[in-house]
Amino acid sequence: MQLKPGTIPHTLKLLRDLMNKKLPIDLLLEKTVYVIATQLNVDVCSCYLIRPGDILELYASYGLDKSALHETFLQIGEGLIGEIALQRKSLVFEDAWAHPSFVHKPETKETAFKSLAGTPILKGDHLYGVLAIQTTQIQTFPTEIIELLETSALALSEILTRENTQNKQEPINNASRLKKMEGVCIISGVAVGTAFIHKRIERTSNILAKDSSAEIKRLNDALLMVQKEINNMLTNPQLAEEQIDIFKSYLMFTKDKGWIEKITAAIQMGLTAEASIQKVSDEITERMQLITDPYLRERIHDFNDLANRLIKNLKGKFRRTKLVLDKNTILIAENMGPAELLDYDIKKIKAIVLQEGSQTMHVAIVAKSLNIPMIGGIGAILSHINAGDYLAVDATKGLVYINPSDEVLDDFSIKIQTHQKLLEKYKLLKGLPGITLDGIPVQLNINIGLANDLMSIDQNDYDGVGLYRTELPFMTSNQLPDTETQTEIYKKAILQVGDKPLTFRTLDIGSDKVLPYFDNTGEKNPAMGWRSIRITLDRRALLRSQLRSFIRAVNGKELRIMFPMISNVDEFLEAKKTLDIELKREKNKGGVLPSSIKVGTMLEVPSLIFQLPELLKYVDFVSVGTNDLFQFLFATDRGNPIIWNRYDSLAPETLKVLKYISDECRKANIPCSVCGEIASNPIDAIALIALGYTSLSMNPAAIPAIKAVVRTMNREKTAEYILSQIEQSNHSIREQLKSYAIDHGIFI
Ligand code: PEP
Ligand code: MG
Repeated sequence: MQLKPGTIPHTLKLLRDLMNKKLPIDLLLEKTVYVIATQLNVDVCSCYLIRPGDILELYASYGLDKSALHETFLQIGEGLIGEIALQRKSLVFEDAWAHPSFVHKPETKETAFKSLAGTPILKGDHLYGVLAIQTTQIQTFPTEIIELLETSALALSEILTRENTQNKQEPINNASRLKKMEGVCIISGVAVGTAFIHKRIERTSNILAKDSSAEIKRLNDALLMVQKEINNMLTNPQLAEEQIDIFKSYLMFTKDKGWIEKITAAIQMGLTAEASIQKVSDEITERMQLITDPYLRERIHDFNDLANRLIKNLKGKFRRTKLVLDKNTILIAENMGPAELLDYDIKKIKAIVLQEGSQTMHVAIVAKSLNIPMIGGIGAILSHINAGDYLAVDATKGLVYINPSDEVLDDFSIKIQTHQKLLEKYKLLKGLPGITLDGIPVQLNINIGLANDLMSIDQNDYDGVGLYRTELPFMTSNQLPDTETQTEIYKKAILQVGDKPLTFRTLDIGSDKVLPYFDNTGEKNPAMGWRSIRITLDRRALLRSQLRSFIRAVNGKELRIMFPMISNVDEFLEAKKTLDIELKREKNKGGVLPSSIKVGTMLEVPSLIFQLPELLKYVDFVSVGTNDLFQFLFATDRGNPIIWNRYDSLAPETLKVLKYISDECRKANIPCSVCGEIASNPIDAIALIALGYTSLSMNPAAIPAIKAVVRTMNREKTAEYILSQIEQSNHSIREQLKSYAIDHGIFI
């Protein structure tokens, strides 16, 4: 199929004019399909929208029989249109009738049409419908046509989202409001004050651009403005060191080549700078939301915060002066990034309540350094709280009382004093080593996902990086980062940690960590599928490139590497052999070799437990990945909230497994640590230390609480207690251990 020069820009211009007219949706769709069909000179253009019950309804069409409108329905997965909706990606069927999924709908009178191309109308993970074209001749469709369909679908999805949200906004009526809401504690603390609703910029309605080069210039200008704003923030003398470091890492994001290239590519498809930024952040958000690891997942907010800042600048809506707040303000938001928080007069913010959110968000790290209590995961808070409501927030318990009684308020003044004492205790621990009362040193390491993460962490607070998850740069870029790019990324991390040990983990992609350019989707059970070391052993060049980057990045220092998802000894030996090949290659090329090399394994597949005596002959260390290990031990999908809490990590069966691993490693004199989420939880950490683990790797925000545990517990006595409990109990010992900790002065 040949297009006349200038067809695509001209069609985009017509569509842009159309979408700017704010027409009723039916009319807009009718005109859109007309413009696309007539300008591209195709026989049919149709738009199907999802109706209640997940049915696709033929909503507008140029070329299909008019009597079929609103009378033709398809299930998701039914026919070629249903297939596009199911697969959620653009598909081309050159010979539509020959395709096994083809379904003939006689009412459309489509007998004559042969080829079909369509694209889903998607906003994030929400599917609105399908936009498709058909021709009577069998033909291929050039990429620029598919891109035009995608751009049109994106513009339609924005308009449909706007329609939806506008229709949904109802005033909060007092009768349907809750008096108390419950979320999860992100930063402990207690506060009372007046609600202030933080609003993110509304979605842009300016979607299609006239002139791509002008849009690229607008983008670059906005990037410069944002960099200037962040530089201004950095000069604020009130900022603590952790906050300065977070904003330095922000500044690096604004220069992130992969991110900027993606936005530029979207502009080149015909979108405005605002719509391109929105598109890219929606894509990154969607991909990152699949990740079950909270620390990695929370990096979404940094990208979104930056995206918002850029869009505000593009729209000329950036506020240069701080808003006037009540002196005791409780900030309420769906979500926010750290820079958004610092746009407020922080002295007046007494607590933050987020609809989403977890401990590992950067905004939480900033709020923590400012001692602002924070609650996350509270659900539809904006449907229950109005600006100006009086709130009592017990972040430690994750509770928010809306316009509370005098009794509740009296109770809160006592709570506020008690919490102040806890903070003073944490402050006293800064810089002190993790050592138990009976003299056992416990290494307190951190898990990171980006070299930049290290910039926001006080160097005195951790002993090393126990787990560097290397997937994120692979997930946020358009293509596999090459060896040079990877080396630069890893070098940054090495530079930040200085002399502290840092353990790289090779790529753990697949399962919940999906790469946009690597198609291993469609597996029925991806957590147990082709993932992690299984991929990198099969795609050896990928593994070799990463190992080469690690060797080059450490540049003569110690190299620590571990392999994820190892299921048997052979896999480990095979992976290690690959490292040896790379070391030899580097040597032959005259490169700098590491001063020493430690090669370990993650233990996260149960089969490996039964090979420990053999495995321990070959590994330099073991790191227990309890997130995966427990999901496989209990056959419980770690990403499925329905069953998250069904099994407990302190059940006798898990404790026995953890004890066996620790005992075997000690016998073989092989260091063993835990780097799963349980290491970040004070009660679980008590159990781990008692079972013999002297190295824990956790999310950085957990360090003060875990250090407080370590320094107030007696390892030997707690071990005696736990071992007796394991023998006596047939269910989780969490409650007993909590009481034991309170009775024995362990600081939890
Ligand atoms: C684990 O499985 O415990 C682990 C640390 O790895 P990840 O969470 O990245 O799968
Ligand atoms: Mg894992």
